[in-house]
Order: sequence, then C-alpha cells, then structure tokens
Amino acid sequence: TFAKVPAGSTIYTQAFALTKAFQDDKSDKKVNLSVGAYRTDDGKPWVLPVVRKAEIMLANDETLNKEYLPVLGLEEFTSASTKMLLGGGSKAIAEGKVISTQTLSGTGALRVAAEFLSKQMNFNTFYYSAQTWENHGLIFMNAGFTDGRTYRYWDAEKRCIDFEGFKEDLNNAPENAVIILHGCAHNPTGSDPTQEQWKELAQIIKSRKLFPLFDCAYQGFASGDLDKDAWSVRYFAESGFELLCCQSYAKNFGLYNERVGNLVILVSDPSVIPNVKSQLLLVVRAMYSNPPSHGARIVAKVLNSPQLYEEWKTCIVTMAERIIRMRKQLREKLEALKTPGTWSHITTQIGMFSFTGLTPKQVEYVVNECHIYMMGTGRISMCGINSSNIDHVAQSIHDAVV
Ligand code: PMP
Repeated sequence: TFAKVPAGSTIYTQAFALTKAFQDDKSDKKVNLSVGAYRTDDGKPWVLPVVRKAEIMLANDETLNKEYLPVLGLEEFTSASTKMLLGGGSKAIAEGKVISTQTLSGTGALRVAAEFLSKQMNFNTFYYSAQTWENHGLIFMNAGFTDGRTYRYWDAEKRCIDFEGFKEDLNNAPENAVIILHGCAHNPTGSDPTQEQWKELAQIIKSRKLFPLFDCAYQGFASGDLDKDAWSVRYFAESGFELLCCQSYAKNFGLYNERVGNLVILVSDPSVIPNVKSQLLLVVRAMYSNPPSHGARIVAKVLNSPQLYEEWKTCIVTMAERIIRMRKQLREKLEALKTPGTWSHITTQIGMFSFTGLTPKQVEYVVNECHIYMMGTGRISMCGINSSNIDHVAQSIHDAVV
C-alpha cells in the first residue's frame, strides 16, 4: 500500500520550496534570490520582446496546426539550435557527424542523454562537479547509472576553482566515465575554467578515455556573447571528441515554462548516425513520445531570421549587462560597509548565480531574519537583485557575517 512509500529527499526541489515560501511571506522587504530566472530592475519576469513578436507571427500563421511533431522534434529548430551551438562554420555539421533531438528543456536533454549513455553505450559511472546544479545526480541515477561521483571544483576557502584537484580527480577516473561539464556560467559557482584550463582538461579527458557531456544551459548569459559562451564546446568539437551537449532555451530566451531544449550528439564516424538516430527515437518514444511545439517554433523563428536573431542578441545583452551591473554594485556596497571577508568573487563570477561564501548558519539568518530567500549552499541568483532591494540585500549579508 501507499503506507510503504518513504518520504523523498527535499534537497532536489529546494529552489521551488523557497519560491513558495517567498510567495507566502507577507513582508514588504522580501527578496527571492533562489530562483534561476531573470527579473527586470522592477523585479518583474521578462518576456523578451523578440519572443512576443515571434508569438504574434505564429498566432497569425494559419498554416500551423496542432498535429504531433516528429519524435525527434521540429527539424528547423534542432538544426538551427545545433548551428548556434557549434557555429555556422562547423566542420562536424558539414561532415554529417551530428544528430540532435528536441527535448523538454535542458533537464529533458540531460535525461534523454543519460538514458542513451546508460542503455546504449553501457556507461555506468558519471562525474559531476562538487558542487553542481542539484539535479544532475538525480537525473543520471534515475536514467540507470549506479555510480555517481564528484570531481573537485570549488575551493571554498580561496573562492575560486580548485583546478589542481579537478585535474587530479579526472586523472584518477576510470575509463568510460561520463564527465558532466558546464559549458559556461557554472551553476552554482559562477566560475568557469579559462581557455587554457579547458585545453588541459581536454587533454586529460582524451588520454584517460573519459566521455565528455556538456550541459549548456546558459549560452549567451555568461558574457552576453553567444559565440564566446560556446567556446568550450566548440573547442572539444574541433579537437575531434565524440560528445553530447544539452542545450536549454529557458534562460537565454526566457522560455522557462515552454520547455525548449536540444540534445546534440557528435560522433566521429558519420556512418553510425542512422543507428544512433534509431536508438534515440526509441528512448524518446518510450519517454514522452514527442515534444511540444510552441516554444520550439518561437526559437526556430528567431534563429532562422537574421533580423530577429539580431534583436534577440540585444535582449541577451540587456540581461547580461543588468546582471553585471548588479554584481558591481553589490560588491561595492559590501566593501563600503566593510563587511569582513573579500567580495571580489562577486564580480569575477559570471552568469546568473553567485556563490557568496555564506555559511549555512549565515544563510539561515538571512532567510529567517531578513526575508531574503536563498539556497542553503550560499548561492544567490543575481537576477533577483535590483535597484530597490540591493541595499537591503547588502546590509543583510553584512549583518549575517559580522
Ligand atoms: N543545467 C543547469 C546547470 C541548470 O542550471 C539548469 C537550470 N537551472 C538546467 C540544466 C536545466 O534547466 P531547464 O530544464 O529549465 O532548461
């Protein structure tokens, strides 16, 4: 009976629970820094103007209907998305070494990827960074992997990447271990390897015969430049790796609830593509049969129109620049308050999140006493900070630390 069902862990759904607590909080000082979603300087969600424009075009297009999409999704979406990731001049695309499938956002891409790797490639060990987005482990274990391990990533004391530890752990990994890498804007630390470091990592991954899987949920969001943010994936692709890459359009298009994603599989021998494709079809068919069309049509419309593409890029710059401005101001305010510790990491970190370095006890203070909702790890979403609440956020962090 249902009485036998044990309680599930709440760790994986913490961001959603904090958002609910925030919504229920009656204080006018409340701030939500837990959710990974962009907010304007008025604290409002933002539907990108280019998305509205594409939606109007779609609504007026009477040739469109609500019939099922193919199992692997909308071809004009997956091909444009893959091109955005690998670049217009991608040799791998030209040589027919790439196959992709539309997925239910980045999470769905990871889930399909993990099941494919587990069932078709017989991989069983996966590594994720310590720390990482909390869902990685859960997705891979649910997809059939049984051996989940971490590689060192974050040096909490120095507040930067523990690169030596990272390399050592990869060097000790068993052959065929899947290495989950964040393509850019690492969540939750906001700290990415440099290009030189990526080259070293590629070397180890190649010599140790490990399998790279890129999670690319923030392309454009890290630097405001789509090409720059895809550098790591493109470097691996151009270096001849076989790899998987999971794309999400939640953040860079603001299409969170439309669930638009793409899984890209890059192989070295194009003749294996038909087999890979037939297995992918089976994974998706049994999981959700075929994906929804609305969000994918929006993205396809924008990516395939040079004019809308340019408009979209300006939206990305708007979001990236506001976040960078908030980072600068938060750091300045903490330094002006003479809050103990160093705060330079707030501006050196990139993307949506900042790993503040607050301890669990300090986080508890900020949440319970200051009505500022943030993850227990000390991660804050920079998007939740705006001109009206930044003083309260800085003062609260200061009070928690002193
Ligand atoms: N990977 C990482 C690292 C993320 O931070 C996120 C979003 N929080 C995702 C994947 C997937 O998000 P979504 O399923 O909404 O695209």
